[in-house]
Amino acid sequence: MIKLPTITSVKNLKDKKVLLRLDLNVPIKDGVVTDDFRIRKIIPTLKFLEEAGAKTIIISHLDEKEGKTLEPAAKILISKFPRMKFIRDIYSNEARSETDNVSAGNFVLFENIRNWKGEKENDPEFVKHLTSFAEIYVNDAFSASHRKHASIVGVPGLLPSFIGPLFASEVENLSKAFSPSHPFVFLMGGAKFETKIPLLNKFLPLCDTMFIGGAIANDFFKAKGYFLGDSTVSEENFKLDDMMKNPKVVLPIDVRTQHKGFRFMKKPTEISIGERIWDMGEKTMKNLALPIRDASFVVWNGPMGNLEAGETAGTIELARLVSQCRGMTIVGGGDTVAALEKTEFFSKFTFVSTGGGAMLDFLANETLPGIDAIRKKTAPKAVSWFKRLFS
Ligand code: ADP
Ligand code: MG
Repeated sequence: MIKLPTITSVKNLKDKKVLLRLDLNVPIKDGVVTDDFRIRKIIPTLKFLEEAGAKTIIISHLDEKEGKTLEPAAKILISKFPRMKFIRDIYSNEARSETDNVSAGNFVLFENIRNWKGEKENDPEFVKHLTSFAEIYVNDAFSASHRKHASIVGVPGLLPSFIGPLFASEVENLSKAFSPSHPFVFLMGGAKFETKIPLLNKFLPLCDTMFIGGAIANDFFKAKGYFLGDSTVSEENFKLDDMMKNPKVVLPIDVRTQHKGFRFMKKPTEISIGERIWDMGEKTMKNLALPIRDASFVVWNGPMGNLEAGETAGTIELARLVSQCRGMTIVGGGDTVAALEKTEFFSKFTFVSTGGGAMLDFLANETLPGIDAIRKKTAPKAVSWFKRLFS
């Protein structure tokens, strides 16, 4: 496993100014956070910095597009850390004075940094501005660390840099997939086949069973020449012959469909004009029960059905099966986690990743741009910084 400097192993953080990158990109509706999974996961990090007496300046993005406010997330954090200050303009005098005067164990939270275009552009001036507030950088935003943005890859170039405890647990748990215990069952669903190919290629040699469900199973059916009606398929035709010949690859034997307002359970070879495959069928799930229960290791990414259309049965049934596994279970993916969070099975997985795209990239490449940026800090200049700060 890659070794990364972790903030929890630093002893003298008292009065140190820490620039903490978090991922507070949570779903918000009508000004209210509708899913606080990511916020709950970083509370231990904030408690650690509070107890260590650090002076912490928190930065995070929200949403893909600029213009959104982190205020709803700030409200939740302030309810837990009442002395935390929320600053809307990171170029204001207030930003400077609040960060200058923040007391030991207290926090300043900056507004959504994607509201400044230097963030996405990794603009050196913006990086400099961010680093001007602190002495140390901590990245505890694993789920945003596949982005080459200023706060992820730019800042660690200028400050002594560490990962936070949540980031460390993501790396530790997900890295288990690189030298897995067997039998290892890999479960892959969801959509956007092109984003999943690197993962299929990487884990096919490592796993014992690779089950492919969700909309990406449709691309396999298409490659087999099946008629799929109005089912979701990629426009591109993928070459899947080798994969389909591999006995480890398991495809659904039955699917739930929707046609003219009616629902059916049938073989994927029986789809009619106008019909849509919307979820995995009961026989398919039944066949997975034993391999999953007896697995030593399960990794699951991607829902089995069209969640937006309310097709959650296959995904929830798979969650039940995975929760009964005797071995270690790792589940991740933005949509997967959102679908499972409210089920009784959620607490029964060994590890739930906060990463969506970041988890996929980390599993495929064994690193992330945010990790590479911190690893570069072993350069001699950085070492002298470290020595000066922590001697
Ligand atoms: P994650 O975010 O967990 O990594 P993806 O983003 O890859 O998952 O895929 C989630 C999307 O896939 C959801 O929008 C879901 O509705 C869709 N999906 C899954 N199975 C199907 C299916 N059989 N037909 C259509 N859409 C599907
Ligand atoms: Mg998704």
